[in-house]
Amino acid sequence: MSFPLPTSLSPSKVSTFKDCALAFRFSAIDKVPEPPSMPAVKGSLVHRALELLFVAKPHERTPSHAQECLSAATAEFMSNPEFIGLELDDVALGEFLADAAVMVDRYFGLEDPASFDPIGIELMLSASVGNLLLRGIIDRLDLDSDGELVVTDYKTGKVPSEKQELSRLGGVQFYAFLCERLFGKRPKKVQLIYLGPSPQIIVATPSEQSIRGLEQRVKAIWTAVERACEQEDFRPKQSMLCNWCSFKAYCPAFGGNPDDARYLTAAADLRSVDSPGAGSSGARSVAVSISRVGAELRETS
Ligand code: SF4
Repeated sequence: MSFPLPTSLSPSKVSTFKDCALAFRFSAIDKVPEPPSMPAVKGSLVHRALELLFVAKPHERTPSHAQECLSAATAEFMSNPEFIGLELDDVALGEFLADAAVMVDRYFGLEDPASFDPIGIELMLSASVGNLLLRGIIDRLDLDSDGELVVTDYKTGKVPSEKQELSRLGGVQFYAFLCERLFGKRPKKVQLIYLGPSPQIIVATPSEQSIRGLEQRVKAIWTAVERACEQEDFRPKQSMLCNWCSFKAYCPAFGGNPDDARYLTAAADLRSVDSPGAGSSGARSVAVSISRVGAELRETS
């Protein structure tokens, strides 16, 4: 009996497979529930505040309005299962919100949101490559004054080292590929806006060669995933990432048994039948449809 193939791949799943095939199996195939992580939930909150900021008219996108957007996003998050799962006490909650407020403020030191109007926010894109479905969410899509597409991805973690930057830029090519497939136009640039300590913008310029390279790499990874599923062979690969891995208790490299994770998933499935909707974050939404982006592109061409 072979493992079922995942139905799609996202940039984060591709990275997970490259980092450790067994962690990929736990996450993408066994779908083992992972505990909420403070940095990830804080990142989602900041993304939501910036999403709400761009709903306002350009001249209303001020730092004080951004803080109001953060308050509105926080009110939404109070009923979010992942946020509740953090179990923050009053002191920890205060620090969490203060950090998020600083990140939202830092954004204004990097860009003037009143100087442009996005054509897409939290845009969910997908495209087929052979029998594989690639999917990803673009934080923001802009059309510059020359009618060129600009993709923006907000990052709330630390700026990567030079070596890590290469793998982050692999994700950038992923977004450029999806845009080219769906809108028939390669983005002029993809910018990663870092809002953590040392805020800065890292810009990448996708080329025909870089996008084709991404396509080839993704096809090779998909072939490796198919082979691993067929042969039921997902091997652990130890690295520094094991220190933060949610699946360590089931990992044979640390004395665990992967089958225990499967029982846990089955139990979670039973609970979700009892309580539909539990576990879905629902915090981030797609604000602008792909058809609207297409219409904007046609108008400018
Ligand atoms: S603990 Fe390390 S080796 Fe084991 S699954 Fe996690 S990342 Fe892979």
